[in-house]
Amino acid sequence: MAKDYNIRKTSGQCSLCEMQLAPGMEFTATVSEGPDELIRNDYCDKCGESLPEETNAAVLCKWRTVVPHPQEKKKLLVSDDLLVNLFERLSETEDPSKINFRYVLALVLMRKKMLIYDRMSTDDDGKEIWSMHLKGSDPPDEHLVIDPKLTEDQIAEVSDNLGEIMEGDF
Ligand SMILES: [Zn+2]
Repeated sequence: MAKDYNIRKTSGQCSLCEMQLAPGMEFTATVSEGPDELIRNDYCDKCGESLPEETNAAVLCKWRTVVPHPQEKKKLLVSDDLLVNLFERLSETEDPSKINFRYVLALVLMRKKMLIYDRMSTDDDGKEIWSMHLKGSDPPDEHLVIDPKLTEDQIAEVSDNLGEIMEGDF
């Protein structure tokens, strides 16, 4: 099966000064928009506070987290707000891998009952577009989500990679 996404995973070291991030250490994680991929970067405390301007400009979301100990079970360390934020920031994307990511993010947010499905329409190219709104938005804010018609396996694969990019891979 062809891969429909592209992500560069975290390396366990600061992306700027290359300091090793040891278990228990707090650091700043970011997900940025590359040309055709989402890029996860980790920064030590010092570098995270003073990211170069051009780096900051491409950042879609940024959060503080802690390097897990090797025996700890991995968990999604990002808040729901960050997931919503990433979903909103990717709204203009035309890149297929990012469209897939955004669709899976929409499924995650639906499962969390934070995003509500309103209706489906078909655009001029025959693509199915879901019209959705965030729970609690008043008046409802309309979010359009392209349905990339992924198979179950593809959804599982994108979900895995979404998990990896958000929680890191130490
Ligand atoms: Zn650093």
